[in-house]
Amino acid sequence: MDRLRATHIKYLKGIGEKNAELLDKECGIRTYYDMLYHFPTHYVDRTSIHRISSFAGEDMPSVQVRGRFVSFTVQGEGAKTRLVGLFSDGSGVMEVVWFKRIKYMREAYHTATDYVLFGKPSFFNGRWSMVHPEIDPPGAPMAQGGFRGVYPLTEKLRNRGFSSRKFATAAADILGRCGNMAETLPPHIVGRHRLMGIYDALTTIHAPADMAALERARLRLKFEELFYLQLDIQRYARRRSSTTQGFFFPRIGHYFNTFYRDFLPFPLTGAQKRVIKEVRADMATGRQMNRLLQGDVGSGKTMVALLTMLIALDNGTQACLMAPTEILATQHFETISSLVAPMGINVKLLTGSTRRKAREEIHSQLRDGSLHILIGTHAVIEDEVKFHNLGFIVIDEQHRFGVAQRARLWTKNTVAPHVLVMTATPIPRTLAMTVYGDLDVSVIDELPPGRKPVQTLLRYDEERFATYQGIGRQLRLGRQVYIVYPLINQNDKLELRSLEEGYESICEIFRDYRVAFLHGRMKPEEKDFQMGLFSSGEARILVSTTVIEVGVNVPNATTMVIENAERFGLSQLHQLRGRVGRGGEQSYCILMSKRKISGDTRRRLELMTSTTDGFAIAEADMQMRGPGDIEGTMQSGIPFDLHIANLSTDGQIVQLARDTACAVLDADPSLTAHANALLVRQLSLLSSRIKDWSRIS
Ligand code: ADP
Ligand code: MG
Repeated sequence: MDRLRATHIKYLKGIGEKNAELLDKECGIRTYYDMLYHFPTHYVDRTSIHRISSFAGEDMPSVQVRGRFVSFTVQGEGAKTRLVGLFSDGSGVMEVVWFKRIKYMREAYHTATDYVLFGKPSFFNGRWSMVHPEIDPPGAPMAQGGFRGVYPLTEKLRNRGFSSRKFATAAADILGRCGNMAETLPPHIVGRHRLMGIYDALTTIHAPADMAALERARLRLKFEELFYLQLDIQRYARRRSSTTQGFFFPRIGHYFNTFYRDFLPFPLTGAQKRVIKEVRADMATGRQMNRLLQGDVGSGKTMVALLTMLIALDNGTQACLMAPTEILATQHFETISSLVAPMGINVKLLTGSTRRKAREEIHSQLRDGSLHILIGTHAVIEDEVKFHNLGFIVIDEQHRFGVAQRARLWTKNTVAPHVLVMTATPIPRTLAMTVYGDLDVSVIDELPPGRKPVQTLLRYDEERFATYQGIGRQLRLGRQVYIVYPLINQNDKLELRSLEEGYESICEIFRDYRVAFLHGRMKPEEKDFQMGLFSSGEARILVSTTVIEVGVNVPNATTMVIENAERFGLSQLHQLRGRVGRGGEQSYCILMSKRKISGDTRRRLELMTSTTDGFAIAEADMQMRGPGDIEGTMQSGIPFDLHIANLSTDGQIVQLARDTACAVLDADPSLTAHANALLVRQLSLLSSRIKDWSRIS
């Protein structure tokens, strides 16, 4: 394998300098190793030949056809020049069209010779045709059976004459040169799971003899990827927890007890209590806590944050709560400071718009220790913010914070503060196992009592009148209403216009009520003012963009209308919907969509109307979009590129890989056993581009 990683593909037969450059640019392929790990995405049975007379349908898959060219003609002029071959298989005739490399093609192929063509038929101008098909040379060994791999090709590669066959040949060439390739997993693991050997697996994945062999090859390669990923994560987590010193918080004291006894505004749910116990237990070990708290929107994470911060205060340290937006930080500040005001706890808010004088006071109180709890936006991680003794950090809705930002907070101390990351984005289990594989996870799986699930309706634009009637009814009952517009691109004039027009027409239709208006481009003071209008109840309707997505809490708001819902992703819709249904009243979410939408979009919207379960929605989101898309931070949280394993569909293999990695580390925590030497070597090869991401999230 070392040689494979070190040898450049320009040395491969039939590749050369120019192609090598293109392969690098288009697919990141540089070495023999890269080429071997560029796998087909699907396969075609070599023995199955289609008849032209049986072609049918709009979206045919790529197929093989066997027959002869009847004639070749050059048609068109200039940029439109093309070579058209008439190809017959006895059952019918189709056109084979080349737009590029015409001269070469004209010389390469002849009439009266048998060819096997592979390509995607399309029906055009009353005739079937294939554009730039792959053509096997006469006498190619198709009769041997087996499957042909179809590789991901880009337009540029195709134009340069790169075909799936060329990739397959290159892979076969490389494999032919390294018949004695060393195993990349130790024999005890290969043996225990009865995995296919690495050489066989690579040979099979490029040219499988049959589907059963292909499945075994895939399993072997997926397992290997996921195993090393898990081994790396688990090794890291164990090393950290055994070496990183953390604050030792042995007691529950005056602050916690007094608050719990005298000022708790409602009894905690069972889940809230359990999570607080888990955090407390972590804090009493002397090791640094790194815990992820998942709890659906409205599950009451803020109270958990407050109570656990009080534990930090009871043990003589300061606490910090960081939120992703100014609105949210302000809201946390208001909630928390009013709750703890009677206890003489000093809480301050620090955001980008905090005035200089207030800021200076905060800085000095932080340094002399008289400030107990700092709440803020990313402003709290600026360099001049120095704590006297920061013992605990809570990060709310962490997906808005980059890894680098969290790293800066972490280094504000010599002893690592305990970290609680709170998120309402339910992370599917297999992804959590990987991206947050090194974190302990707590889950609030219970909503406060008396909540009624939000009723969600899908309405098309022409049914808008019914929506307005519904809004009117809620307003007359004294409730409040959100109307949300997509403003995905802050500079998109069209989107901004539809938001403004929406606002105007709402003002027009609901003249008797005050309407607040909020979008991301407003100045912070203006935003706060508008938000204040709504949260105080003075404005009964809030027309806004998704700036309200995260965390805003107005329990009297019972209706949310989402305009152009077809443009939002599932997770975002779920987050938005979480703004209603926060009180005891029945709440509604109305998804407005245009009628002409794709099947996928319709399924997405219909799923929203059928469930309020955040985990079910996150799983579906991941299935539909793939794990990489869930969010950028997470994607960058995966330390290796996965070539073949898929975190959303290979859940069982993720689990197997994790169990195997844990068993290896249980037996040999530092991987010093002779039998594990290979593991250490492979890990260091794979993790050359690893970042120090796991220690801080
Ligand atoms: P989130 O988990 O989305 O951050 P919040 O902490 O904002 O949820 O809580 C949502 C609402 O539920 C708030 O109005 C809060 O006061 C209320 N709440 C939280 N815990 C309880 C509880 N145990 N009983 C009743 N209401 C609660
Ligand atoms: Mg919250």
